[in-house]
Amino acid sequence: MKRKWLYQVLILTISLFIGLSSNLAIICDHHWVESSILPPVVTVFRDDHQHAFMLGWDDEMDDLRFSFIEDEFGFRHTSFAVTGRLNDSVFWGLDMLFRGHDIQSHSSEHLHFARLNSSRIELLLGQSINDIERLYGYTPIVFAYPFGSHSSESDSIIPNYFDVGRGIGSEKTNRGAWPITSRSCCLHSAPTCNGITGDVVDRLTISFEEMLNNEGHRAYKCYGHSGWFNAREREQFEKELSKIAEHDNLWLTTWGEAIAYQVVRDHTVIEDYHTYSENIKFKTVAPELNISRYPVPVTYRVEIPRDWDNLAVLDDGRIIPHKIVENSSGKYLLLNSTPRGQIIEITTQRVVDTTGPVISGIHITYTTEGVLVLFEVSDFHGTVCDVNMTIVTDIGSFDFDRIVNPTFWSNNTYGRVVFNASDIYAITVMASDSSGNIGVSSNE
Ligand SMILES: [Zn+2]
Repeated sequence: MKRKWLYQVLILTISLFIGLSSNLAIICDHHWVESSILPPVVTVFRDDHQHAFMLGWDDEMDDLRFSFIEDEFGFRHTSFAVTGRLNDSVFWGLDMLFRGHDIQSHSSEHLHFARLNSSRIELLLGQSINDIERLYGYTPIVFAYPFGSHSSESDSIIPNYFDVGRGIGSEKTNRGAWPITSRSCCLHSAPTCNGITGDVVDRLTISFEEMLNNEGHRAYKCYGHSGWFNAREREQFEKELSKIAEHDNLWLTTWGEAIAYQVVRDHTVIEDYHTYSENIKFKTVAPELNISRYPVPVTYRVEIPRDWDNLAVLDDGRIIPHKIVENSSGKYLLLNSTPRGQIIEITTQRVVDTTGPVISGIHITYTTEGVLVLFEVSDFHGTVCDVNMTIVTDIGSFDFDRIVNPTFWSNNTYGRVVFNASDIYAITVMASDSSGNIGVSSNE
């Protein structure tokens, strides 16, 4: 009883003190502390979206036929590839990676895992990981069971190699659950085991809306076979996607990116958080994670004083983009960053960046598939935002409006494939940064 009374007096004293001091701030030994400001949090999904849509294709049949969806609607997919088939079609995957899609493992051979002994399973998984590392330069983190076939034995082996083993069953009671059980069989949201192919295409939006209406359900996890679509189904699929894309609080992501985001989020630690009168600083680190395996940015939501405007956000001194959200509970800043032990600073002071991105090392590879152009884009004071390329070849000229650095690459490499071309006459690469500065490189 006495303790409660003391507690109330303490609260009253603090409230009075806060109320009297200007701008709800109290002076400490070293700096100003905004007493009402909450420390940063990592949001559930990128950009604080409340729902996610993850699309996966199995068996790499006609995935390229659907890779236009990132241009038209913003959707991205994961190709679960049978990696033993990819040796002669490396550009197939690179083309998708530079559009923002993702490649993960569907074993190196398409076999029933329930019928295999453990040493065979280990061999197939190891081979498949090696294939993706060798061909695409990163380690896959998600596995899709061929035929959805699995056993308790395979389920106990998969976690030694991948973060998630994905099945093909239909989610019934936990449709939209997130996070999904890592290290176990993950099910998809589409109503039949054919995923989004067949008659299910017509029900995609209905099934998606059902997920949205379920309290606590967040991630629509979809899979199908791109090669099974006939013309009518493909048309219907595009119609359904256009309706889903209208939903404004939806993260359009890939299986690989969504799971990597969740892993990084689970491991992120925010240290040394301080608020001052002109800035907020914190350190972000994932001490127990090999971040090069999951090099994806997570979103931090940072509360800021209501009267702060015209802010700059610095990630180890480099300007990064941000978004401000204001509602009845406060004013927040959203920023994306990969935890690497760096200092994030949000400042009300003016920060100017007048230098554009630097494009270097344009490298061309000719194969029977076509030509591959690789180059580096770096920005020393800001963040690379848009990268595009115009290329003139023997089969015509091409404008690639939006080129991305692949999700799982820990470098600054960008590129593009021109299938069936055998000669290049001219290349122009352009890149802009978050302050609108532009860098150009031409190779004629
Ligand atoms: Zn398959």
